[in-house]
Formats: sequence, structure tokens, C-alpha cells
Amino acid sequence: MSGARPGHEDFGARLSFDRGGPGRRAVDVPSWRKDEAPLPDAHLLRESVRLPELSQGELVRYYTAMSARNFGIDSGTYPLGSCTMKYNPKVNDVVASLPGLARAHPQAPPEDVQGTLRTMLELRRGLGELTGLPEVSMAPAAGAHGELAGVLMVSRALEDRRELDTRRRILVPDSAHGTNPATAAMAGFKVTQIPTASDGSLDRPTIERELDDTVAAVMVTAPNTLGLWENGIEQVADLIHDAGAYLYGDGANFNAIMGRVRYGDLGFDVVHLNLHKSFSTPHGGGGPGAGPVCCSEELAPYLPTPVVEEDEDGLVRLVAPEHSIGRLQQFHGNSAVLIRAYAYMRALGLDGLRAASGQAVLNANYVRALLRGYYDLPYDRPVLHEVVFSGSRQRRELGVRTYDIAKRLIDHGFHPPTVYFPLIVEEALMIEPTETESAEAIEGLVEAMIAVAEEAERDPDLLHGAPWTAPIGRLDEATASRRPVLRWNEDS
Ligand SMILES: *Cc1c(COP(=O)(O)O)cnc(C)c1O
Repeated sequence: MSGARPGHEDFGARLSFDRGGPGRRAVDVPSWRKDEAPLPDAHLLRESVRLPELSQGELVRYYTAMSARNFGIDSGTYPLGSCTMKYNPKVNDVVASLPGLARAHPQAPPEDVQGTLRTMLELRRGLGELTGLPEVSMAPAAGAHGELAGVLMVSRALEDRRELDTRRRILVPDSAHGTNPATAAMAGFKVTQIPTASDGSLDRPTIERELDDTVAAVMVTAPNTLGLWENGIEQVADLIHDAGAYLYGDGANFNAIMGRVRYGDLGFDVVHLNLHKSFSTPHGGGGPGAGPVCCSEELAPYLPTPVVEEDEDGLVRLVAPEHSIGRLQQFHGNSAVLIRAYAYMRALGLDGLRAASGQAVLNANYVRALLRGYYDLPYDRPVLHEVVFSGSRQRRELGVRTYDIAKRLIDHGFHPPTVYFPLIVEEALMIEPTETESAEAIEGLVEAMIAVAEEAERDPDLLHGAPWTAPIGRLDEATASRRPVLRWNEDS
């Protein structure tokens, strides 16, 4: 977080290429393994690839300094909303690294990898039981990928019903994650936006008006991105089914209801889960992830390939469902991620999962109670996994934007919350403490948010220029994403 301490060189500031000197070496013990492929001659590496030459001490300090410039769940509270749990139990890594699991070859005959396959089968059964939607494919590699699978399954089912030509629309609430309308459009449907009512639920009159025989599905996020329960979802499910459409569930926020409410019991036909949001598998760097898709018996024949099943002889294998939408990626998805989710599920058990969802909800409501009054609460009712404040008062009265508030929090030692999402909340500040933060950690975050609110009144420019203590201040984010400089260049 902070820059160099006095007397210490800031080892994060220059790349390894720009430091060290000719002939400096680190020490390593040669491998005892004879079959290991040797590296090419060190001279070739240094001369043609121009690898840096560093002593061991320089190297260790360099990487230690680089790692300390990062902020993650292992360094402090991470209140990013809509990302759900960020905790990755270390024991999951131990389990996933067990040689029998880690070394299973994806093309091994099923007889030789029954342990791995049975782990998948038990995860599949667990997810089916928890969601109340017993048919599951764990092939999708992310939440958005699971959405695509689910919507393509709906599309294929409508084709078999000979209604795909007429049912061309998918209804999506305006509070939805951007992946929902994007998925519907990618699968070839037109998106009709459903407004949010003043209580934060779907606007019922609009749903009733829009539901007709041109609708293929309605995509509902439950709990929704405002952190609120979708009131009357069972009745909405009945209306959708009466109109001949399917109810798609975005289960990204499942961690709020896990072990308590089942999507299948509420009338959902198909949902995706994000194992990195509800089952403790790592988020970072775009993956690898897993977004299993769970569905009713009716949609089961369309599930993506493969699905893990046990035959009459007790042999577990990967199969292709009868009318499968096909493969979404190679082999069986990211199996090391699935094993981590399984380890988490088994470590907690049903009671533990229920306790985790209860704690996540309690923590979000604690933030809501402590911060209320300091920031506006556009949908002011008890929340589930997260709470969405608005910085619109600060913007209107002090000329301070949510962006400035988020940046100033960095100086107070916290990762900022999610900002400007959901889109229906002006100057949104979305906080999701998750189940693993202690009361003291939550109070620390709240104190920092209150301190920032007071600084905004006293000295708005303190916020406009923040962060002051981070190694890098404000980036030109648009340029950074449109024209990223990702390569070291000797001349630059
Ligand atoms: C994160 C999220 C998604 C997308 O999931 P990815 O795993 O990031 O692809 C979809 N919907 C909601 C509500 C989310 O929070």
C-alpha cells in the first residue's frame, strides 16, 4: 500500500530488468530428478532473451516488495459488493493439490480416475440439493458462461416445442448485472428491460403487461443486486409459467440464502451459481472459475456436456445429455476449482453453510445500521448479502463524487467498495462485508467511511486528489484499458 519506508529502497518501483548487474546470481540446489528437461544454456537465455541478472537477496526483496504493493483478502478487509465471498480457505488448496486429484489426466479412462469423478459427482449432488434443481452441469467456466449455457438451454427447449420462432424476447430487470442482457443478446434474443419498483423488487405491473407468447424467459437475480429479496417471486414464477416462458435465475448472490432457500422450490427452471462467489474458490485475474448450471428435469436433456453420472454398476462417468447444447470448453471444466468448492461444502456441511449465509446477512445489516445517516440509502429496508448506499448527497452538496470517496478510502487502509453499480442507484456505493469479517473489522471499515464523509464536508479537495499514500495515484483508466502497456521496453 504505502511507498518506500525511509532508508529502504522501494523495490517495487523498478522492474527486475532495470536492476541488478552482470554476473549476479541466485543459488539453487540442482534437481535430483534426471528426467527433468534442462533449461537452455544460461548464456543463451541472458543474451538472446535478455533476462535480468540479480543476486538472491535482490530477487527476494524485489518480489516481496511487489507482493506488498497488492491489496487482497490476505492483507485486509475487502468490501467489494456483487463479488460476494472473497475468502479462499488454505485447506482447499491442500485438498486440490493431493497428487491423486492434481495429477488425474483429463483423458484418463474413467476406471482410472474414479476418485476425481466421484468428487465431482458428490459436488454435483450437493449443488443439486442446495438449489433444489437436481440436474447439474459443472462445465461452464464462469457465472456469465453459466448464464449463456442456461439461456441456450431455454432456446433449445423452445426449438423442440416449435416456439423458438415466436418467443424472441427475454425480460431482464434494470438492476441486473450487465452479463444478463449481454447473454440474452448473445443467444439471439431481444432484451426488454423491466423497471425496479420503489421497494427494490421487480415492477409487477410491467411484468404482467409484458408477459405474453413472445417471451422466452425472464432473468431474475435472487437476491438482487440491491442486496434485496425479490418479494413475491413465487407468484411471478407462476405468471411466467402460465405465459409459457421459463424463469432463469442468476444465482451469483446465493451465499445470502444458502442452506435456507432453494431456487427449485420457488419455481426457477434454471440457475447458475458462481463457485467463486458462494463456495470460496478464488476470484482473481479472470479465473480459472466455475459457474455450474442447475436445472429442472424438463431442461436436463439440454445441459452442456459433460454431466457427471453414476451408472448401475457404480461406475462414475462423464456423459453427454441427449439434446445437449454441446461443449463449452475442453474436458470437464476447471476441475481443481470444483474440488476446492467440494472441500468447502464438505468442511462446512449443511449447518455450516446455513451459518455462513446467516453471518453474511448479519454483517451486511450491521454495516447498514452503522453507516445510515452518513450516506443515503435509496432502498431503505433490511438487506441480505450486501447494502447499496448512494453518495448523491455528497455530490450535490459538496461536489464530491463516489469515485473520490472510494479513492480516499484507500488512504484509510481499505479496499474501496464497488462503485456505480447497480446502474439504477445514482453514485452507488455497494458494500458487501461477507461472512468472514469480524465485528471489529466491520467497525473499522465503518469508521473509515464515516471519517471520509466528514473529510468530504471539511476538505473536499482531500478527496479529489486521493489516494495520497498509494504507490500510484489516479490512473487514466480509459487509456490504461484501451492502450495498455504490457511489455517492458529497454528504451522506455
Ligand atoms: C458476478 C456476477 C455475474 C457474472 O459472473 P462471472 O463469474 O463474473 O462471470 C452475474 N450476475 C451477478 C449478479 C454477478 O454478481
